Amino acid sequence: MNPAAPSTAKSAAPSPSLPSLIGMSREDMAAAMAALDMPAFRTGQLWHWVYFHGAREFSQMTTLAKDFRALLAERYSLSRPEIVDHQKSADGTHKWLLRLADGNEVETVFIPEEDRGALCLSSQVGCTLKCGFCHTGTQGLVRNLTPGEMVAQLMVARDTLDEWAAPSGQRLLTNVVVMGMGEPFYNYDNTAAALKILMDHEGISISKRRITLSTAGVVPLMARCGADLGVNLAVSLHAVRDELRNKLVPLNRKYPLAQLLDAARAYPTASNARRITFEYVMLKGVNDSPADARELARLLRDIPAKVNLIPFNPWPGAPYECSTKGAMRRFAGILNDAGLSAPLRDTRGGDIMAACGQLKSASIKAGPRSK
Ligand code: SAH
Repeated sequence: MNPAAPSTAKSAAPSPSLPSLIGMSREDMAAAMAALDMPAFRTGQLWHWVYFHGAREFSQMTTLAKDFRALLAERYSLSRPEIVDHQKSADGTHKWLLRLADGNEVETVFIPEEDRGALCLSSQVGCTLKCGFCHTGTQGLVRNLTPGEMVAQLMVARDTLDEWAAPSGQRLLTNVVVMGMGEPFYNYDNTAAALKILMDHEGISISKRRITLSTAGVVPLMARCGADLGVNLAVSLHAVRDELRNKLVPLNRKYPLAQLLDAARAYPTASNARRITFEYVMLKGVNDSPADARELARLLRDIPAKVNLIPFNPWPGAPYECSTKGAMRRFAGILNDAGLSAPLRDTRGGDIMAACGQLKSASIKAGPRSK
């Protein structure tokens, strides 16, 4: 692909008709093996082929008997969602638009950095939350993704990057952030099942320390996630007063700031080494004053926190503008003076609408995709 300009590649795989092995937990896979009268120890081999080697054909699975490979191929598929569109931004960011078996579409973004790279996974088609600055919110919720549909997003990225079975030190895709379309805590069970597969040491093997789940603040699920999964937490804060947060993140009416900050303070993995990220989208004249910055520092003073200042990414018809560079620098400076790390993130992938809050897909509910 030409690295200097956004590029596009399309593929047209048939949609799978057999049930997929992708998204199966070890228990599911063991049950599938038992149903085929295979001994339990074969599950580990199959698991390794599916999630460590990323096998796309059963014929590759040379540690399994030929007859058994043929039987598996009759019953199951290894196929990924169809890649409707794959774009690579001038800055190296990839964006895939994937078509799911039922025709719904979902976006996944890969953001490479010098010594690491994060894959941004979607957890739902659309979203219920309707945060005023977020493009996905304008779509409404279409449906939750299954564990397989979440895991498959990573598999497509590893296929494209061609780094299956690569030693972990040599991979570009090192981190996962659940920050794409949807609210992962409104699809908790499937998200947890998917993350457990991604973390399994004999498969995809991404450590919980390299996974960050972002929530708009579904307070009751925060403690559960910390205890069950132990992944890093990011909280989409965006405002320091309830009155404004109610407008920007309507979920705040249900779980106001004080409750949200208490839950963050109690998050099991929170420590100086594993700080909670507070995301703060910079909206011109709305939440970007020095007084807002001082209040933010005060609210976070007793939480192991870092702040991720996100320049607002525009989308067609958006009712907000991004803060000026000066306002963002001043805001970051006030946080830094208060001892908070607050890097001002560069927008990545903006030329292919892959930046935070720009994802929106065609869906059955929303009707055919207009381009
Ligand atoms: N529902 C989850 C995860 C998805 S949003 C959550 O709210 O955290 C991922 C991040 O992108 C959130 O912090 C969200 O507030 C932010 N975001 C949404 N729209 C944006 C936009 N247009 N510009 C910049 N950031 C945006």
